[in-house]
Amino acid sequence: MSEDIILSTSGLTKEFGGFTAVNGVDLKVRRGSIHALIGPNGAGKTTCFNLLTKFLPPTRGAIVYNGKDITRRRPAEIARLGLVRSFQISAVFPQLSVLKNVRIALQRKRGDSFDFWRSEDVLSSLDGEAMRLVEAVGLAQFAELPAVELSYGRKRALEIATTLALDPEMMLLDEPMAGMGREDVERIEALIRKVSQNRTILMVEHNLSVVASLSDRITVLARGQILAEGDYATVSKDPRVIEAYIGS
Ligand code: ADP
Repeated sequence: MSEDIILSTSGLTKEFGGFTAVNGVDLKVRRGSIHALIGPNGAGKTTCFNLLTKFLPPTRGAIVYNGKDITRRRPAEIARLGLVRSFQISAVFPQLSVLKNVRIALQRKRGDSFDFWRSEDVLSSLDGEAMRLVEAVGLAQFAELPAVELSYGRKRALEIATTLALDPEMMLLDEPMAGMGREDVERIEALIRKVSQNRTILMVEHNLSVVASLSDRITVLARGQILAEGDYATVSKDPRVIEAYIGS
């Protein structure tokens, strides 16, 4: 039976001057899976993400999403095709309420990007949809709170809500647990599991217990190359993986 692959790369390579940060990566992500990209610091994970969303142009190689070659497409086009990277916290408007942040993301999806100057009537018509997303990520009781007042973990939940507002088919999550306490980790883990039910997720994550409990499949990168692939039980026993982590 052939696998249903939503995203694949072939020979993906990025050189910075004479240094090869990503070196001939052939990645395959199955539709509907939670796939984790792990590896020691400097392995090339962030660079890979930047190549996938076209924040950086690859030096060589190709990226295919849903059967379409997206290697030369612009970031906004890739997002329109359904491949969206979760926004960094800095992209959340700190002084605006949780609800308004999500509403602005919904406006972006509709193409009226950053049009703050619409009448409140028009904008409030989106509030119902925004509120459903706020509820879905567990922030209902904080809907009117300025984003700046949220705890770190809840800001990440808001970030996921603003990403979900774009209704992506596939989400790239950049270290969703970075800097979080245990309670927040548990909340975000449950949220990722929930939002993964009808979409594909590719995440870079350092917290290996989260990777173990969430991922269907793991790709281990080291020095820009794929070192191992498989489920957690398989890759965590692989001596090359253990060595790469210890040696880093
Ligand atoms: P990871 O996310 O796995 O920690 P990165 O993708 O951030 O790894 O980095 C991989 C390697 O590429 C590192 O050695 C890093 O110093 C280098 N690198 C990343 N971005 C640049 C850049 N813009 N210019 C030069 N070197 C870079």
